[in-house]
Amino acid sequence: MQPDGEPAQRLFERGEGLTYNDFIILPGHIDFAAEDVDLSTRITRNIPLKNPFVSSPMDTVTESSMAIGLALLGGLGIIHYNNRPETQIAEVRKVKRFENGFITDPVVLGPDNTIADIDAIHTGHGFSGIPITEDGTLGSRLIGIVTNRDFDFEVDRSRPLREVMVTDLVTAPEGITLAEANQILRESKKGKLPIVDKRGFLVSLVSRTDLKKNRDYPEATKDERKQLRVGAAVSTRESDRERLAGLVEAGADLIVIDAAQGDSIFQMRTIEHIKKEYPGVDVLAGNVVTARQCEHLIAAGADGIRVGMGPGSICITQDTMAVGRAQATAVFNCSRFCRQKGIPVVADGGIANTGALAKALACGASAGMMGALFAGTREAPGEYVYKDGVRVKKYRGMASLEAMERGGGKRYGYSESSLKVAQGVAGLVVDKGSVFDLVPYIVQSLRQSFQDIGVRTIPQLHAAIDSGDILYEIRSPSAQREGAVHGLLAYQEPVLGTGEERERR
Ligand code: GDP
Ligand code: GDP
Ligand code: 5GP
Repeated sequence: MQPDGEPAQRLFERGEGLTYNDFIILPGHIDFAAEDVDLSTRITRNIPLKNPFVSSPMDTVTESSMAIGLALLGGLGIIHYNNRPETQIAEVRKVKRFENGFITDPVVLGPDNTIADIDAIHTGHGFSGIPITEDGTLGSRLIGIVTNRDFDFEVDRSRPLREVMVTDLVTAPEGITLAEANQILRESKKGKLPIVDKRGFLVSLVSRTDLKKNRDYPEATKDERKQLRVGAAVSTRESDRERLAGLVEAGADLIVIDAAQGDSIFQMRTIEHIKKEYPGVDVLAGNVVTARQCEHLIAAGADGIRVGMGPGSICITQDTMAVGRAQATAVFNCSRFCRQKGIPVVADGGIANTGALAKALACGASAGMMGALFAGTREAPGEYVYKDGVRVKKYRGMASLEAMERGGGKRYGYSESSLKVAQGVAGLVVDKGSVFDLVPYIVQSLRQSFQDIGVRTIPQLHAAIDSGDILYEIRSPSAQREGAVHGLLAYQEPVLGTGEERERR
């Protein structure tokens, strides 16, 4: 048969930088259902995900609420660092506390504490099921438990807990498995199961809510303790070492070294420092756009590589700095090199729709990082406002003048005092509803896209890139026009994931 389309190697060899928009993937042969597609991946050496996306560490995209949502849905959030270290650390803690297997550090009170103390815990942490021990600490004799049902109608909040606590307790012995503890909890019909040692001293706690969370979110990204996984961004500065220590202590699973041009001696030293001091934590290094840059970061110990310089929707780096690379070409070249080393690539920036995410994976990325796509959801930081009758949220580049005023230029090497050249802009994005609606939509689109390509898994897709079994084709400018809506005076465009449409002209 005559050759029809071309393999990825040839597509990207022509020496011209290609964007996702410049090419199309030719359809393969379908012999399976979209539901058979498995989108499992790894974003770094040791962090598997059920779904291939993470959210950008940006102050209008990822704080704990986004990170919790995405981790429950099989992705991952990277908490931004345009804040004080203690604020970022607290956001990481919120994610890690959200769901648990054994809660090994439960909040505990003593019999002389009051209902008001529980009110304060509820305000700060969101839960109110509190074990009561003799001296009010973990590792002391368990004498009761208090849950909101014991005091919600009590007017006098100064009453001591000894008067309201429940003392006929169902407990389980230290050493049982989580599955066994869950079984006891189910049968007891209680909300909490305290785990005690032989002497009756409190060791840990298991919560019924967590059984429900596990049931409702089977794809959740969790660590071995059943806590949600979360990433956190840091800069390469020495002054961020203390922040880094706090983030690791709080349980961050992944540290993302955030730099616009990642191939630097500063980044290599930071990677080496993390790998030496915290060998259990994975490092996503970057950003880079060439194989040679990848080689440096992998040699320094990077567990994953973040690729992208200039493709972000809010980004003006290529215009102001004259350095960067077209994103599809960058992802292809970096992935080809990293695949040989067994290191996953995260394609960062310019993924404005599900088709671009599929193309990023088809260029060799193991996952996509998105800012604009997740901005404007309910879980993104910031309030909704109305602009010309449309409900919108702010979305801004971390090197926009506005973000840099709040300390956001660290990624670009700007110190507090230096003259800052903006490499990003601030803007608005439309309300996209909740990530709990948006993500299933993205996942379903990806599954259908894999089905059209004719591959069931991401490793299969990557193998097919190397073998030349997937074929691609350049889209001429008129092919790009043909592929988009054309020839209409006005039309209704779907707003991703919301089930709603918006008038376009
Ligand atoms: P409660 O009944 O008011 O305690 O709250 P829920 O049972 O609805 O929620 C408790 C959630 O908070 C679970 O997902 C726990 O894993 C989580 N959590 C994290 N740390 C603690 C803790 O120290 N104590 C309690 N009670 N829950 C915790
Ligand atoms: P699977 O969840 O059954 O696929 O297997 P896992 O190894 O993940 O879980 C082992 C046991 O822990 C099972 O009994 C799960 O139901 C239970 N489990 C999983 N996640 C959680 C959680 O977040 N909290 C609690 N309490 N149990 C969990
Ligand atoms: P988006 O998904 O919106 O297309 O791109 C998000 C990505 O843009 C981020 O993950 C980050 O890599 C990059 N980015 C964030 N802020 C800025 C900025 O101010 N300037 C530049 N050049 N890139 C940015």
